[in-house]
Amino acid sequence: MKQNKKLLLCRYIFEKVMAFGLIFLLTPGYYIFHMTIVRPYLIKIFKMGTAMHVFHVFLSLFIFINVCGNMFLALLTDNRVPRMSLCQNEKFGRYCVCCKLEQPRKSFHCETCGVCILRRDHHCFFFSRCIGLNNQRYYIMYLTYISIGLIYSTYYDYFFVSSMYDSYDFIIALLRVFNPLVSFISTEPVGIRDLYVLFFDLNVIFIFWATTVLWFHVKNMMMGITAYEHKKIIRSDMTKWNENLLNVFGKRWYWAVLWPFVESPLPRSNNFSRID
Ligand SMILES: [Zn+2]
Ligand SMILES: [Zn+2]
Repeated sequence: MKQNKKLLLCRYIFEKVMAFGLIFLLTPGYYIFHMTIVRPYLIKIFKMGTAMHVFHVFLSLFIFINVCGNMFLALLTDNRVPRMSLCQNEKFGRYCVCCKLEQPRKSFHCETCGVCILRRDHHCFFFSRCIGLNNQRYYIMYLTYISIGLIYSTYYDYFFVSSMYDSYDFIIALLRVFNPLVSFISTEPVGIRDLYVLFFDLNVIFIFWATTVLWFHVKNMMMGITAYEHKKIIRSDMTKWNENLLNVFGKRWYWAVLWPFVESPLPRSNNFSRID
């Protein structure tokens, strides 16, 4: 039992460090790197005029704000099961002995967060938070914008990185990130360019990761099931996809997908206050 508590504490600290790195170092660092180092190169390579330059600056800023905004709101939105039930006329079933409250339908206790989460989807390792009823909208839009941002930046990174090499040397540089032995068949010295190649390779890997996770969660959302139900192969809620969309993005979903700071109240259905 003591060992279990220690493990939970280690996991908790490790997750917080990872989340801190993602939020305060990796995401802003990625944006600053592209704005200060990649952007001037691209203006030269593409002979970009002012209009096109301004368009790209605004587009990348829009994506960056959406990534950060959705990430912060996913982290800060309260997802706990309230002490007072959502709908007092409803009967509740499962009881959480840790939180000493009755759990509404689809709500579960999270051992890492230490609380009961409303319509719990899953515990996100990277955010060190549970994704549930109130922040699933931000989580899905975070994944959407991070995927768009990665595809967009990787496309331009290709021109940025490849312009530094002859075509043969570029292939060698791409390969030696994974296998340093490849360096022996190239006379090119290893330098800062190889770091950019490493970023490029990582970008490609992250694109596959982000789009796969996004696809998994969008599919679940459209089917009206949580990640937990997906694992347990529970298909109790065969509601229409447009109703399921409203249950995540709220009544003003068309604004919610464009801007994280728009309020979009969830439908006042009793769906998630009933017992299972
Ligand atoms: Zn609980
Ligand atoms: Zn959790």
